[in-house]
Parts: sequence; structure tokens; C-alpha cells
Amino acid sequence: MNPMTKQVEVHDPGILQWAREIIEQCPSPRLMQQEVINAVNRNALWRGEECLNLLAPEAPTSPTVRRLLSAEVGIRAAEGNIGPEQRWFAGTRYIDEIEALCVELLKKVFRTNYADHRLVASMIGNMTVYAAMTEPGDNIMSLTQPFGGHSSNRMDGPAGIRGLKIWDVPMDLVELEVDLEAFSEIARKVQPKLVTLGASMTLFPFPLKEMAQVVAEWGGKIVFDGAHQLGLIGGGQFQDPLGEGAVVMIGSAGKTFSGPQSGIIVWNDPALTKPITDTIFPALAATHQVNRVAALAAAAAEFLAFGKEYMAQIVANAQALGKALHDRGIPVLGAHKGFTRTHQVILDVKAFGGGYQVATRLAKANIITNKNLIPGDRPEDWDHPSGLRMGTTEVTRLGMKEAEMEVIADLIARVLANKEQPEVLKPRVMELRSSFRKVHYCFDE
Ligand SMILES: *Cc1c(COP(=O)(O)O)cnc(C)c1O
Repeated sequence: MNPMTKQVEVHDPGILQWAREIIEQCPSPRLMQQEVINAVNRNALWRGEECLNLLAPEAPTSPTVRRLLSAEVGIRAAEGNIGPEQRWFAGTRYIDEIEALCVELLKKVFRTNYADHRLVASMIGNMTVYAAMTEPGDNIMSLTQPFGGHSSNRMDGPAGIRGLKIWDVPMDLVELEVDLEAFSEIARKVQPKLVTLGASMTLFPFPLKEMAQVVAEWGGKIVFDGAHQLGLIGGGQFQDPLGEGAVVMIGSAGKTFSGPQSGIIVWNDPALTKPITDTIFPALAATHQVNRVAALAAAAAEFLAFGKEYMAQIVANAQALGKALHDRGIPVLGAHKGFTRTHQVILDVKAFGGGYQVATRLAKANIITNKNLIPGDRPEDWDHPSGLRMGTTEVTRLGMKEAEMEVIADLIARVLANKEQPEVLKPRVMELRSSFRKVHYCFDE
């Protein structure tokens, strides 16, 4: 590299420097590979066995799903639609079977007419919707980040890349729900082609029917970004967006749905089939990881058997955790409405130093959470917001119930309110975690 050229990296320069030194010190490429494996193993031990993982977007996959992710089919190429004449490559006979099983299982789980299995991330599903259903310059409406809105539906994500004009869906600060009256007023003025609902922080359902009625006045459509709630929706534990008037639902397969990290898109209207699938292929997916498709199909089958019970326990645990924290004097959002109707519990931790500080302190006790913007924060404060977000998906799949939520709330309250040293509580966290090792709600049990 020309020494006059300045290195431009977005990554932490200290950690890149650490990696360069490790690589330089390795006498052979084989040992460099070993360093990679060692880091993977360090993570597996710490996050996989010693931590209480309360990150809302994570879920443990079953042993079968995990095994399929390294299946032979993962090295095969299968661009195109299902069927020998629709592919670029010969030899896809069994791949067609795997993919068809996946599509039909997804339709069955979500009770829809159509599903696509090729989104390597849910973010690509958002891009698909905006590319297929809008033109640059169109108006859309979506939620702001302090109310849980995700970048994929804002200026810095796919919606912005598509050149859309984005208006905010107004929210009620107290009820943490859409302000229907204000929405109707703004929507009638800007007549958005699409309104995208669904958020990374969602405690309560959206008034979807009412909003769909408003936008129908000018032929507008509702899209549901169910990234987080996808599993809850499939398991009948949250609102049913497509039944209530949304025309498309996108979601992450690796959040509450508990499959391999990737995306799912489902719809019912045959008129949307060509626009959506012609955008997925050949525009946004080519080699779409058939091993992942197989794992997704296996996760969908698990979901048919265990989804309802599993998702109901996730919500029951979140409500129990919210109440237990509230009882210990920690401000929990939505306390006056039963805390949550999803897998998430949101704390206002302004009084304890803010989300970044609290998440860092809790991680020292092996309790993993994330800082989060909450209503009242400004979008530009994303790095030092007032909130803390937690989810109960992983602890639930490991078999924890309401009684364990009390124990977890105790540990969190001791770090926050009692200002105990987190390191002192770490052995207690590890002990709790070590009695819940098995993945439940699957056929491997
Ligand atoms: C997580 C999330 C996404 C992105 O999902 P990926 O599967 O990680 O690409 C999109 N929208 C919302 C609301 C999310 O929370």
C-alpha cells in the first residue's frame, strides 16, 4: 500500500491491530486457522455455556437445525426458481425437493398462500418489498428509532436506498401504541404508498385493521416487518398481520422463530407473486445457501409441533420478568398495561447511568442485554440511549419458566439498584445457567 494513503476502516483499530499481531506471530497458516477456531471456542464456552443471554434478536437453534447448517448441500449451487428448467445448473433434483419442502412448510406455519425461502437476511426482504412495491420518490410511513423502528425502513437502510420519502408513524408516548388520530391526519395528507409496521422494540400490537382502512382510501398498503415477532405470530401469540390487513409480512428466521439466521417473506395476493419473486431472483439472491434452506425447513417442522407452546412460554416469561423487575423498583416500560405482549422487556435505565453503562455492567456479570433507544430519546443518541432491551427467547428454549425470571430479576436488580459489583454475581449467574443446558421444544429432546 502507498504509505501516503490513509487507511480508512470502520472497525475498532485496536482489535484489527490485535488480529494482525496474532497472524504475524503464527509460524504457519495452519496455526492461523487454529487461532480462528480458538476464538470460536472461547465464544462457545462463554456465551454458549456461562452466560444468561437476554438479547432479544437471538434464539438457540435445535441440534438438528445446527447440524443441517453444515450439510453437504451447503456447497451446492442452485440459483433460480424451484424446478429443473428454472435453474441455471443441472443436478438440482434433490435440492428442488429440499426447497419445495421448505416453501410448503413455511406456508403451513404461517397459514399463507405464498412464501419465499431465499432471503439470506430479513433486511433483504425489506429491500425486496421496497424494490417490488414502490418507485423512487414515493411516500412511505414507518416508525422512528426511539419507538423501535429499524434502519431497514428508514433513510439509512433499504427504504432510503430506494429513494423513498419517509414520514414518521406517530406514536403515543404513554400507551406505546400508534396514535391513530394523528396517523390518519398525516397519512391523508401524504398518502403513503406503503406503511411499514413492526419494530425491533415492540411491546404491544398495532391497530392494523384501522390503519389499513385509512390507507385503503387511496390504495395504500400495509407491510408488516415482523422480524422480531415472526415466531410469536406463527405460534398464534401475537396479532395476525396478514389476517388484519397487511399484504406482505417479512421476518427474521433467527429471532423468535428460532431457525437459522436469515429471512422469510409471506403473502396471500397472487398479484404480488411476480413482483416479489422477480426481485428476489435475479436481483437480491443468487447462491442462497441451500444448507440454510434445509435448516429453515427443519425449524419450520419443529415449529408446527412445538411453536404454540414455546411461544406462549416466551411471552409468559417476558411478562413475569417485567413484573419481577418492576416489583424490585426498576422502571419497566408498559407497566400499566402488563409490561409486554411479546418476548421483550424494556427498561428505562436513565437513573442507573443509561443503556450503554448498564449493558456493560451486566455483561461483566455474564448477563447479556443491549442498550436501546426508548421513547423520549433522540435518534442521534443511539450510542448512549436511556433504555435497555431484553428478550426471553433463549432462556425459554433452555427450559426456564416464571420462577427463574424472579431469580434473573433479582440478579439484575442487584447490579442496578444495589450497585453490587457485577463480577461478584458472576458465579451465581454461571450456576443458574449450568442447570439449563438442553434445547427444548424440538425433536432432539
Ligand atoms: C432485526 C430486524 C431486521 C433485520 O433482520 P436481519 O434478519 O438481521 O436482516 C429488520 N427489521 C426489524 C424490525 C428488525 O428488528
